[in-house]
Amino acid sequence: MSVTVISESSNGALHPVTAQLVGAASSLGGSITVICPGGVGSSDAANIAGVTKVISVEGDCFESYDCVAWSKAISPLVEGDLVLSSSSAVGRDLASSIAASMGVPVVQDVTSLTEGFSATRPIFSGKAIEEVGISSPCAISLRANSFESAGDGGNAEVSSVNVSQDITVAVKQALAKASERIDVSEADIVISGGRGMGEPANFSHLEEVADILGAAVGASRAAVDTWGEIPHSMQVGQTGKTVTPNLYIAVGISGAIQHLAGMRSSKFILAINKDADAPIFGVADYGIVSTWEEALPVLKEHLSDLLSN
Ligand SMILES: Cc1cc2nc3c(=O)[nH]c(=O)nc-3n(C[C@H](O)[C@H](O)[C@H](O)COP(=O)(O)OP(=O)(O)OC[C@H]3O[C@@H](n4cnc5c(N)ncnc54)[C@H](O)[C@@H]3O)c2cc1C
Repeated sequence: MSVTVISESSNGALHPVTAQLVGAASSLGGSITVICPGGVGSSDAANIAGVTKVISVEGDCFESYDCVAWSKAISPLVEGDLVLSSSSAVGRDLASSIAASMGVPVVQDVTSLTEGFSATRPIFSGKAIEEVGISSPCAISLRANSFESAGDGGNAEVSSVNVSQDITVAVKQALAKASERIDVSEADIVISGGRGMGEPANFSHLEEVADILGAAVGASRAAVDTWGEIPHSMQVGQTGKTVTPNLYIAVGISGAIQHLAGMRSSKFILAINKDADAPIFGVADYGIVSTWEEALPVLKEHLSDLLSN
C-alpha cells in the first residue's frame, strides 16, 4: 500500500490536520508521500513521523485557490493506491477533482478507516453512520479530529516541482492579469470575446489589441460558462457587469439580448462576427463581417500605425 496525502494549510503554514492525515495513512501501513500545494509547510511536513517523501508543488496557480488549476497541477504527482485529503471545503473539492482526473472513486467525510478495507462516515447530518467498502485506487477526504495525529521526528526528503509552465495556468494567469489591469466596468475601451473565439487561449489575441488601446478585456457568458479559464469577473451582460465605455468591441459574440443588456449604452460599438445576420450588428455602429482570425491582425496593424503617428 502506498498513500498520497494532500496537505492542508492555513495562514501560510501547515495545518495540524495534516499530521492527522499522516496518522490515518500510517495505520494502513506502507509508504506515505505528502504533497504540499504551493510548497506551504513542506519542511514541517517532512518532520512528521512516518512520512516517506514530501513533494513541494509550486507555481503561480497556488496564489489563490482554484480547484481545476490545483488538481491539474497535483494529480500527475499522485503516487500509489490511495489519496487522502482533509474534509475541509478545499480538501473535499480537491479529493473530488483529483479522483475525477484519475478516474477513481471518491469517499468524502470519512471518520474511520480499517485496513481491510472499509470506511465509516456520518450521513443525514450525523443521524446515521454509513459503512462503505473501499477498493483502491480511491480518493478519500477525512474529517478533522477523527484520527490520531502522527508525532514529530520524521526526516523525509523534500523535492520541489514547479508547474508554472502549464499552458492552462499560464493562459489563466494572463487573463486574470488582463482583467485585473482595468476592470471592464471602469474602462474607457472594452474588447470582449464570445464563444466564437473558439478556445480560451485565443483570448490572447484580444489582449494584444487591448494592450495597444489600453483597454479592458471582457467576455460573453457563453465564453465564461464554456471555459473555466475565463473568470466571471470578465462577464458583460445581464448577469455580469454593465459597461458604458466610449468604445466597445464585440468579437465572436452573437448579441443575445442578455449580452446587449450590459453593453448597449456604450458610445460606439464595433462588432466582428462571421455571420452577417448576427443580432450584434443590430446595435453596432461599425460592423466587420469576417472571422476574427482575419479581422484582428488587420485591426492590430492599423491601430498600431494610427497610435504611433
Ligand atoms: C438568465 C440569463 C442571463 C444571461 N446573462 C448573460 C450575460 O450576462 N452575458 C452574456 O453574454 N450572456 C448572458 N446570457 C446568455 C445569452 O443568452 C447567450 O447565450 C450568450 O450571450 C451567447 O454568447 P456568445 O455570443 O459568446 O455565444 P454564441 O451565441 O454561441 O455566439 C457565438 C458567435 O460567434 C460567431 N463566430 C463563430 N466563429 C467565429 C469566428 N471565427 N470569427 C468571428 N465570429 C465567429 C458566431 O457567428 C456567433 O454569432 C444569459 C442567458 C440567460 C438565460
